[in-house]
Order: sequence, then C-alpha cells, then structure tokens
Amino acid sequence: MMHGETSQFDILIVGGGLVGSAAAWHLARLGLKVLLIERGHLNAGASGQNAGSLHFQIERRFLEQGEQAAADGARIVSLNRLAIADWRGLEDLLARPLDIAMHGGLMVAETEADMALLAFKVERENALGLPSQMLDGAALRERAPCLSPALAGAAWLAGEGHANPRILVDAFATGAQGRGAVIRVGTALKALTMARDGTYQAVLDGPDGETRVRVPRILLAAGHWVPRLAGLLGLNVPLYPAPLMMSVTDRAAPTLPFLIQHGGKRLSMKQTEDGNFLIGGGWPSRLARRADGSPDLDSPPLVEPANLRANLEVARRVMPAIAGQALLRTWTGMTCISADQLPIVGEVPAAPGLFVAAGGSLFTLGPTLARLLAQTIADGAAPEELAMFTPRRFAHLDAFAVLP
Ligand SMILES: Cc1cc2nc3c(=O)[nH]c(=O)nc-3n(C[C@H](O)[C@H](O)[C@H](O)COP(=O)(O)OP(=O)(O)OC[C@H]3O[C@@H](n4cnc5c(N)ncnc54)[C@H](O)[C@@H]3O)c2cc1C
Repeated sequence: MMHGETSQFDILIVGGGLVGSAAAWHLARLGLKVLLIERGHLNAGASGQNAGSLHFQIERRFLEQGEQAAADGARIVSLNRLAIADWRGLEDLLARPLDIAMHGGLMVAETEADMALLAFKVERENALGLPSQMLDGAALRERAPCLSPALAGAAWLAGEGHANPRILVDAFATGAQGRGAVIRVGTALKALTMARDGTYQAVLDGPDGETRVRVPRILLAAGHWVPRLAGLLGLNVPLYPAPLMMSVTDRAAPTLPFLIQHGGKRLSMKQTEDGNFLIGGGWPSRLARRADGSPDLDSPPLVEPANLRANLEVARRVMPAIAGQALLRTWTGMTCISADQLPIVGEVPAAPGLFVAAGGSLFTLGPTLARLLAQTIADGAAPEELAMFTPRRFAHLDAFAVLP
C-alpha cells in the first residue's frame, strides 16, 4: 500500500550509522526538520562493527602506498586536529558517558625501515601542527613496558585512543530525537527521483508499507551502500567495499592504556575498560558472493582464517603477553574507501541539494565531518576543512548523468 506524500521535512537522511545520526543531531540543533531512515536497526552497519580506534596519526594505508600517497594522506591532518577537540568534548555535548579513552597512541616500528617511515610521517605531521614525536626503543619501553622489548621504537601522539562503538550512535540519535528529528527504523530508501523544481521524491519501504516523501535536501549517509543509492539517480560516487575483520580476547588486568598501531604492518590493538583486548588493523575478510558469483554487499563478509592468523601473529610480536589470552570472538564488517582514499563529503555538483558523506575512517572522523557538513547543509557555509573532501573532485564521473 502506498501512503500519501509528505513534505514536512527539510532534509531526508538515509542511514542510521554514526554519520547519519550525528548529522541528524547537528541539523536538528540548527533548526532543520529532519527525517532519518534506517533500513535495519540503528548502528547496524560499520559504525557498530568497527574497532573504535581514535587514530589521528596519518594512517598506515596512506604510508604503504609510497611518498605521494603519504603526502596526500597528510592533507587530512587539519581535520584530525579538529577531531581530537571534538572527541574531547563529545561526552559533554551529548551529556552521556561514551567510554572514551584518549590516553595517547603508539605507532610501533619493528625494523629500521619502519622507523624511517615513521620519522617521515612525524615530520609531515609536525609541519601541519600535529605534535607527534618519535620514541626510540628505550623511550618506548619506558612508556609501554607491556610491549615487546624487540621493538625498534614508535611514533607517539597524545590524544589518540578509543571509544565504544556500541553507544555513540544511540547517543546522537536519541539527542536528535530530543531536538525534534524523526527517526524511522526498518525503513529503506527504495526509489529516488529529482523533480523539475529541484526537490527530491523518495519512496520509502517501511513496516507500514511504502510511503513517499518530497524534500528539498537529502543526505546519503549509507556507508558502502552510498554508490547504490546514488545510482538510483544515475549518479556515480566512487566508493569501494572494504570487508574487514576484528577479534576480541578475554579480560586481563589493565596493562595497555594506549592505542597501538604499527608503522609497517596492519595492526590496531587496545584494551577496553572491561579488560578485553581488541585486535584488528585492516585485515581483509572475504566478500560474500551470490549464487552467480557477484559480490553480495548485503550479507556479512566471511572470516578469512589466514588473515586472522596473520593479524594475531603481528599482535603477539608487538605484545608477547597477549599469547596468554583466549580469543573469544572474531567478527567481520564492511567499510568502504574512495578512489583517492579520502572521504567523500559534501554536495554532489550534478544534483544540487543532494549530499553524500562516506568513505574512510569515519568512526574517528565521523563526528567532525557530520558537524561541518551540517553547517554546510543548514547555512551554505563552506568550512575550509571540508574543501578537500568535496564530491566535486569526481564530478567528471557524472558528465553523462541525465537529471531534470
Ligand atoms: C571492522 C571494521 C573496523 C573499523 N575500524 C575503524 C576504526 O577503528 N576507526 C575508524 O575511524 N573507522 C573504523 N572503521 C570504519 C568506520 O566504522 C566507518 O567509516 C563508519 O562507521 C562509517 O559510518 P557510516 O555512518 O558512514 O556508515 P554505516 O555505519 O555503515 O551506516 C550506514 C547505514 O545505512 C543503512 N542503509 C543502507 N542502505 C539503506 C537504505 N537503502 N535505506 C536506509 N538505510 C540504509 C545501513 O543499514 C547502515 O546502518 C572500521 C570499519 C570496520 C568494518
């Protein structure tokens, strides 16, 4: 059954992950009438599956692609500086404890080659105002005695850390509702068209059947599903699925207050408030496939045993004592990266009023990008930190799009 069209909202947000719910919070606070739809339950996607790392040093995925990629990655540092301040203020902003620990982060080195790469990174970060510093082996052992004595050193950044991915989305969503936002779960965007007057007509599929809404603005905050949804309008957003894995051990007495990453290998490791160790760092899981062999982006990816073993082995080399912990659970999740590895955030040039926000490490950066994007959507502001993430850099992909 199709219910009547409603046009009472200023914006439709599609996706109830961190980006969508944080944007809803900010937009509602700025006075917009917000409708957020989520096809499953809130936090069902990457926002509820991730490692919860707050990493503000340039990520290894930029470093491993050579100097040019590292230089490109360095452009994100100005945003990372804002993100540190945002995370420090989040519990006050949302008036809720969020299990945020920001005791600092170590990107460790096993070899002299790792050390050289980290020194290159630290130099770039310092030039951009991010006060990371190199620690030699002795200084590292003094700061983190639980780590392997064989490590060559590390890059240190105060303010890095971790937070609990299971509570942040609820805090933003509840706060948004308190400011008048309407949130409909179990409701999927099914069809989307642009009318001649530039408004968007969306067909929503929810518990009560199909409804239509007409809105002047729409934000696609649907993670790795953004390309599919932009495709409803014949538009192209170059985001690619990245299926990953995470593992958790049983509890131990507190020994590791810091976020651990690795300069030369894939690793993230931290100890939660409860004492469990979380181990990840970008090790791929395997995309599920449909019967015809095509990738199935709607089903959870599958654990890849060889990568799980390799991930645990890196963790053990960095912190030998972790070999004494039992592995409780390994899970998979899907995130996405863009064609140039930077998030894609802003208005799509070919479709005024259509905004996208996805790609990259949007647990760490999601609250900040959502805040900046909300200012753009509400006031047309153009914060300089958003400029590098504009969808305009991929406008050529929509050169053949046909819109009214
Ligand atoms: C295993 C793993 C570890 C990670 N670790 C980190 C980390 O440590 N630090 C970090 O910064 N980042 C990390 N990330 C990345 C981070 O989790 C994501 O960048 C971030 O959560 C993306 O949030 P989002 O709101 O854009 O997307 P999502 O959380 O994926 O939310 C998108 C939502 O859109 C909904 N949706 C899809 N289609 C529709 C539709 N048609 N209609 C309505 N709703 C729809 C989905 O159901 C989903 O809930 C990790 C990711 C994974 C998978």
